[in-house]
Amino acid sequence: MFKTDTQIAKEHTEQYLDVVYPVMEHFYTIQGEGAHAGRASYFIRTAGCDVNCWWCDVKDSWEEEGHPKLTVRELVKAAKESGAPFVVITGGEPLLHDLLPLTLGLKSAGLQIHIETSGSSPLSGSLDWITLSPKRFKKPTDEVYSNVDELKVVVLTNKDLKWAEENAAKCPEGTRLLLQPEWDTPKSIELIVDYVKENPEWGISLQTHKFLKVP
Ligand code: SF4
Repeated sequence: MFKTDTQIAKEHTEQYLDVVYPVMEHFYTIQGEGAHAGRASYFIRTAGCDVNCWWCDVKDSWEEEGHPKLTVRELVKAAKESGAPFVVITGGEPLLHDLLPLTLGLKSAGLQIHIETSGSSPLSGSLDWITLSPKRFKKPTDEVYSNVDELKVVVLTNKDLKWAEENAAKCPEGTRLLLQPEWDTPKSIELIVDYVKENPEWGISLQTHKFLKVP
């Protein structure tokens, strides 16, 4: 008999419900960036990141210590009760954690699962949409590229455009290709606009949550 992802997850979830994750914050909001920008979604921001981007706007997420440890049961309940159609697992770097327990828990509640990752740690969990945001100074694993749905590269200088091209060459055909200006580097907008006009297979991702003033 055919079983849906939700049915399979329900059969395996009970053992995972008490697993804990360090979580900086979790909240119902509007996805601000990328291919799903503008859609209601539940964000789970795990704590812990070993990538250390200097422009990072969530530096409080870098250390696991000091953040509460929440169970899969608590996170699933909050996400389900919000009414969100999908959950975005972000960080920090969420792949520093084994995401199988959390993603099975969310699946058992019928939720779709997106992840935003630098791809620098091994993939884990049951994921419906993978957004790779690769960083030059801590490169993605080879394994992640074949699973990418969306490549979103933050651009500050011309070097980042070259980095974007190198990454796009490793992603499957049909991957959404997006360039995102770094919020505090206005010159990056000019760079990206010119580049996308010349290379229309790329699109632009803006941090619309910052315009909307939602978290
Ligand atoms: S990978 Fe993300 S969370 Fe980690 S330092 Fe870079 S921007 Fe910040």
